[in-house]
Amino acid sequence: MDARRQGDENPNSSVVAETMKLLANSSYGYQIMDRSRHTVTKYLNDEKTHSAINSKMFKRLNHITDQLHEVELVKTEIEHREPIIVGFFILQYAKQRMLELYYNFFKKFCDTDKYEELEMDTDSLYLALSEENLEDVIVPEKRAEWSQLRSKDCNDNFTANATDNFFPRTCCNVHKKHDKREPGLFKEEFRCAEMLCLCSKTYCCYDKQTNKYKFSSKGLNKRTLEDCGDGPMSKYRKVLAEAVNVTSTNRGFRTIQHSVATYEQTKKGLSYFYPKRIVEEDGIHTKPLNL
Ligand SMILES: [Zn+2]
Repeated sequence: MDARRQGDENPNSSVVAETMKLLANSSYGYQIMDRSRHTVTKYLNDEKTHSAINSKMFKRLNHITDQLHEVELVKTEIEHREPIIVGFFILQYAKQRMLELYYNFFKKFCDTDKYEELEMDTDSLYLALSEENLEDVIVPEKRAEWSQLRSKDCNDNFTANATDNFFPRTCCNVHKKHDKREPGLFKEEFRCAEMLCLCSKTYCCYDKQTNKYKFSSKGLNKRTLEDCGDGPMSKYRKVLAEAVNVTSTNRGFRTIQHSVATYEQTKKGLSYFYPKRIVEEDGIHTKPLNL
């Protein structure tokens, strides 16, 4: 955090700041990697394919040419050497923080008719607001209580807590700057008038005024979506309208034993199916699963 705060102060150390960001963000994905799902893919001739199919490690077979088959096998030995407990707690604390925000801020202070949840992930929440700013969503009779809570914010020992600090402070310049990098506070990431959410980690925001997009497409190459003629939003809208998934081809480089090879991979792209809640007739609103 301090490295990133220094990066804000001094552009010369922004390389360090960016590296710290990358390091912090990428280590978390590694920690929760599930090695038991990793497989080995082999390219085998007829004869070897036969014995591979009969192996208890066999998982999948793909036809390439008449002489060549792609065989996917699970690993005979799995070594769990990630500190998954770290990643596990990062996820659980993030969920707890989201619940704190929801129950201690939105439920307690806000007018439910003035906001609607659109999409949520580990560290982000997208909302549709009927007002210009989030503070305007607070019910009038609760505004005094909310500003009462804010009045004790202007001190250097500030930390985000479970009940009354959720957003960066606006009290003074020193604290404004400090809170840009304070963990646990929700910062505004994007603002626009149009958002289309298909399912988890698959959404598209578009701001007409600045012609800017912010989108997430799980597993899909972002460039592919950006480069298509009329912008990424059209692809998302197509999925919603036609209820068919978009597939795409990912191309890239890989090094295999000191030599570089190119690869092509067809991916299930924008997914239409949303299994986490019941989607109502209108295709927009959702209700909890009947579990
Ligand atoms: Zn202050």
